[in-house]
Amino acid sequence: MLPVIVIGAGVAGLACARALHRSGRPVLVLEAADRVGGRVATDDVDGFLLDRGFQVLLEGDPVVRAELDLGALRLARFRPGAMVRHQQRWRLVSDPRRRPQDWWTALIGPGTVGERVALLRAMRHARSGRVPATTTAAWFSQLGLTGPLRTTFLDPWFAGIGCAQGLGAAASASASYLRAFADGGGCLPAAGMGAVPAQLAAELPPGAVRTGVAVRGLDGRRVLLADGTAVEGAALVVATDLPGAARLAGLPDRGGHGITSWHFAGEGLPAADPLLLLDHEGPVNHGAVVSAVQPDYAPAGFQLLHLTTLGLHGEDALPAVRAQLRRWHGHDRWRLLRRLGIPHAQPRQDPADLEPAERSPVLGDGRFVCGDHRHRAGVGAAIASGLAAARALLAA
Ligand SMILES: Cc1cc2nc3c(=O)[nH]c(=O)nc-3n(C[C@H](O)[C@H](O)[C@H](O)COP(=O)(O)OP(=O)(O)OC[C@H]3O[C@@H](n4cnc5c(N)ncnc54)[C@H](O)[C@@H]3O)c2cc1C
Repeated sequence: MLPVIVIGAGVAGLACARALHRSGRPVLVLEAADRVGGRVATDDVDGFLLDRGFQVLLEGDPVVRAELDLGALRLARFRPGAMVRHQQRWRLVSDPRRRPQDWWTALIGPGTVGERVALLRAMRHARSGRVPATTTAAWFSQLGLTGPLRTTFLDPWFAGIGCAQGLGAAASASASYLRAFADGGGCLPAAGMGAVPAQLAAELPPGAVRTGVAVRGLDGRRVLLADGTAVEGAALVVATDLPGAARLAGLPDRGGHGITSWHFAGEGLPAADPLLLLDHEGPVNHGAVVSAVQPDYAPAGFQLLHLTTLGLHGEDALPAVRAQLRRWHGHDRWRLLRRLGIPHAQPRQDPADLEPAERSPVLGDGRFVCGDHRHRAGVGAAIASGLAAARALLAA
């Protein structure tokens, strides 16, 4: 029997291939890169685990809980809340429902009482699904989130989630994140975020994933490879990112957002809190001492700081990043380990892009499509998209 060919071994393609394999269908996954995982990857550099882009696994996402063996990932959790920059100082924004010991800090943190009540209302709306079909920025403003809680916390937090300033992403996408954070928060696997796709791939039979194989075109159910050969499949699943799906399947490319990731090593520095750091004044938008969350991210005696600037930045941005570190810590005894630009970190998620709620995975003629561009970005959403493609294929 010809295999189903899945093009792309990101979490969407791997989840799709695993579901098909579990249903007894032979699968062949073709991946252009030399490793699986797509945008979820970790590099071990001298004992430091460098995720490609600041990412957290949301254990509150029901798909993440259902599809991954979270115990095997040995997750370590961020403390709920965030440290935010307000009037040249760090202030804690906390959720006293999840950390009752923080009730006083939560009360005196940046923001008005009205904003705190409005944020609780946003949470309620996110849970009930009563979220307007507008941008996140407009939704927050409608709720009265227009003061310091918005500027210091919500703006940089959701800019970080959407990889773009301005909160132009659909309110419904941001509501899913609010729910997932409220129901579990962010975590890091002991072996880095790359352990997530590795776990999905581990269940596939030997030989089912071929890396270093770039697909350059489709001809019916034949897949044309960059080396000039072709492979025939019983059906095809295009599981690439949006630029790839636009090239291979002619889908409209609505564009995306890029970021730059900065990893720094510290030695013998004071212990840091396992908290997200947000700075609306930039150029660094967000980051964390990730080794304070997950100690396996750095060798003993060292710390690993992972920062993000929104957009693509070269080495010439380093002095401004260092100046920000001096404002934060009073020193910049951090050694740059790696700067990495990620041009297509996430697809645009404007309200018009996400309506209707989920695009069909069926392209016709035995071709299917999945990936985070089908609905919204995120590991859980991409896995869900892969499962939807597998279901549609099996039903067909
Ligand atoms: C900086 C950053 C921060 C993020 N933060 C979070 C977060 O905190 N939490 C969260 O849940 N999500 C986060 N995300 C989003 C999440 O990582 C993505 O939504 C998800 O990984 C997308 O998976 P995918 O399988 O749809 O696509 P991809 O991971 O892009 O996989 C597509 C695969 O297809 C391959 N491919 C492309 N073209 C071809 C071709 N022609 N032939 C063969 N193979 C091809 C690619 O090499 C790639 O491996 C973040 C993403 C980034 C980049």
